[in-house]
Amino acid sequence: TYRALYVDKTPGSPEDTPETTTRLAELTAAQLSVHGGDVWVAVDYSSLNYKDALALAGSPGVARTLPLVPGIDLVGTVVESEHGSWVAGDRVILNGAGLGETHHGGLAERALVSGEHLVALPEERSARWAAGLGTAGFTAALSVLAVIDHGVAPDDGPVLVTGAAGGVGSVAIALLRHAGYEVVASTGRVTEQAEYLGRLGATTVIDRSELGAPGDRPLQRARWVAVIDSVGSHTLANALAQTRYDGIVTACGLAQGVDLPATVMPFILRAVTLRGINSVDASLRQRQRAWDYLADAFDEEALGQFIVEIELDEVLSRAGAFANGQVRGRIAVRVGPG
Ligand code: NAP
Repeated sequence: TYRALYVDKTPGSPEDTPETTTRLAELTAAQLSVHGGDVWVAVDYSSLNYKDALALAGSPGVARTLPLVPGIDLVGTVVESEHGSWVAGDRVILNGAGLGETHHGGLAERALVSGEHLVALPEERSARWAAGLGTAGFTAALSVLAVIDHGVAPDDGPVLVTGAAGGVGSVAIALLRHAGYEVVASTGRVTEQAEYLGRLGATTVIDRSELGAPGDRPLQRARWVAVIDSVGSHTLANALAQTRYDGIVTACGLAQGVDLPATVMPFILRAVTLRGINSVDASLRQRQRAWDYLADAFDEEALGQFIVEIELDEVLSRAGAFANGQVRGRIAVRVGPG
């Protein structure tokens, strides 16, 4: 058997709106293989993302099937493969693609997955490195690459990162800085996290209340050449209204809310581009490009400044911090010998 976090219906709870219970369980290979797949992976590391916290709490928006092993990231070693691209011994990364949502995920010692979304762990990088970045890092890379592809150059002006001290925000700041951009970080935790954000590469730290309230005008003072937003709602609407002519705003998250109380004015008067980011369904080409970019930008040491490592049996007690907005940077979860 293999140790795994396991979310299941609470016995006796209503069938249509089930309550869930999450526990550390011992699962058999048969239990782990119910969703199919062609590659067995011995998991070394998983990680905790905002979404994992929702799955651990049984949120039906993330845990789309029950029972479920949560964990939208895994990094490990192939132990058995029927997929042409992979053989036993290969070190692999998987983010999203249904993992920990519709398919048993990474918070288990073994996972049976589909070989088509796997990316090889970059040479000279450890499983801890890849899990430390995880979906949040991968999403930050997709966002930064969208800014670069849009043609924004480092000396064009400041780039805003919202939700700055969170997982996506932290990695985005470090990537932008590495690429030479001037970064303004927006956080709700200025007092506690300004020093941390400065170390990551933010030149200025602003309080998120500047952006989080309903905007008074559809076009505001143009401040940003680009914005990387993981917050949504009024923050995203204000970010759009403050973006300069031909700038780009990427939207990946909903930490403030799923609404977008904006007008079309930034689009029609400033030619602003709003670019959606979806890491879950990214193509293999996009995955490969983003992981190559991360491998180039971060070594193990650079990652050390924003990751915390925990064990599988600490996951449940740590997940609550996401709901309170108390997580800083990234949480890697050690599952196997690493
Ligand atoms: P996280 O580590 O919890 O970070 C979210 C950050 O948002 C928090 O640290 C906080 O930053 C800020 N925040 C929290 N509540 C807020 C509020 N009410 N108003 C304004 N800001 C608030 O989560 P994450 O893993 O980085 O994910 C961030 C978001 O992106 C989530 O919504 C997640 O679902 C989404 N996401 C989407 C994709 C995709 O593929 N589209 C991939 C990964 C993540 P400060 O304390 O610095 O203010």
